[in-house]
Amino acid sequence: MDLQTATDHIEIRQEVAKLCAKFPGEYWRKLDAERAYPTAFVTALTEAGYLAALIPEEFGGAGLTLSAAAAILETVQAEGCNGAACHAQMYIMGTILRHGSPAQKTQYLPKIATGELRLQAFGVTEPTSGTDTTSLRTFARRDGDHYVVNGQKVWTSRAEHSDLMLLLARTTPKDQVGKRTEGLSTFIVDMRESLGKGLTIRPIRTMMNHNSTEVFFDNMIVPAENLLGVEGRGFRYILDGMNAERLLIAAECIGDAKWFLRKATDYARERQVFGRPIGQNQGIQFPLARAYAQMRAAELMVHEGLRKFENGETPGEEANIAKMLAAEASWAAGEACIQTHGGFGFAEEYDIERKFRETRLYQVAPISTNLILSYVAEHVLGLPRSY
Ligand SMILES: Cc1cc2nc3c(=O)[nH]c(=O)nc-3n(C[C@H](O)[C@H](O)[C@H](O)COP(=O)(O)OP(=O)(O)OC[C@H]3O[C@@H](n4cnc5c(N)ncnc54)[C@H](O)[C@@H]3O)c2cc1C
Repeated sequence: MDLQTATDHIEIRQEVAKLCAKFPGEYWRKLDAERAYPTAFVTALTEAGYLAALIPEEFGGAGLTLSAAAAILETVQAEGCNGAACHAQMYIMGTILRHGSPAQKTQYLPKIATGELRLQAFGVTEPTSGTDTTSLRTFARRDGDHYVVNGQKVWTSRAEHSDLMLLLARTTPKDQVGKRTEGLSTFIVDMRESLGKGLTIRPIRTMMNHNSTEVFFDNMIVPAENLLGVEGRGFRYILDGMNAERLLIAAECIGDAKWFLRKATDYARERQVFGRPIGQNQGIQFPLARAYAQMRAAELMVHEGLRKFENGETPGEEANIAKMLAAEASWAAGEACIQTHGGFGFAEEYDIERKFRETRLYQVAPISTNLILSYVAEHVLGLPRSY
């Protein structure tokens, strides 16, 4: 069963699916067991130009639209692969594109487009402040022609497999700014330069293969020329990229949901118990039909967000709702897929339990469902801010 419900970017979807076919379940299973990085897969995506989809042609990228990028990531997930190893590169570079100086864009974007430089690491979350980003404590103190950075990040994914990190740090203490969103700045950290010289990276073993780390800064030197945009406005720069990020993550969840539903419906048609296919039982059909309905509704919201984004509008409402609904739909599809497979859903060789673990993340990261509901309550429904 195809389950291809989207009608846009068909050629891109077909080409990405062909590439993904070279990385079947066994490939991901082996990496999962070893908690290893999918270098060959990321190299293949990079060489095919997919990770540079959003980099404009003048900087060596494909100059595609956000909906094309969403089609790429959705297909990666729908084919059973895992874009979490590299998806951030697609959207983090947007901060350099929007707020970098001409010299920074020329220096970094063409090399990111070819894969010579990997921009996979995004250092925002800290252990003490968590979701309360403006309370983060990592501090970058200006000292002549450089900044001296001290502090700690947590959940900095892919830091060991990235050359550059986009770092959010305080440059003015919170009690000395008018608004708590001020006094935060964004830097490009060249981790190749800093590793062992004030930068320490420690992997965190998680329930799925995500290559996440904690990162420590101990008097790490960052040249002042690596500051992005204007000092103190970094929080705004990060916010500017969030709608695109949420829509892309939502597209990945749609892909996961399609993978689960295809796998489950194929199995439900074939598996005979009590002399008939299990898919003939409404107890098997209904959770799958419900998950499909959830996926379709979420998919429409993703497309509406993409349409607004590409129209130059700010799809805050759509991007947030799409991310929440899509993460819930992929989880519902995963749950129905496991149940449909009975005991076999737990066997590693079916890949279901792996995808089940992988897709659970998106109800927590990059933003948790509660915070999306808070956004909708405050910014869409006009209710008082709750935190
Ligand atoms: C595998 C993985 C990869 C990640 N990768 C990255 C990365 O590359 N870069 C990065 O910067 N971060 C990354 N993150 C961090 C992720 O964005 C955070 O985990 C997430 O934003 C939640 O923050 P927290 O874990 O500190 O939870 P907390 O902020 O401690 O929240 C805990 C719970 O309380 C809820 N909560 C908190 N405040 C409120 C409130 N006011 N109202 C209602 N509920 C509330 C939250 O919704 C959550 O359910 C990653 C996380 C994981 C697990």
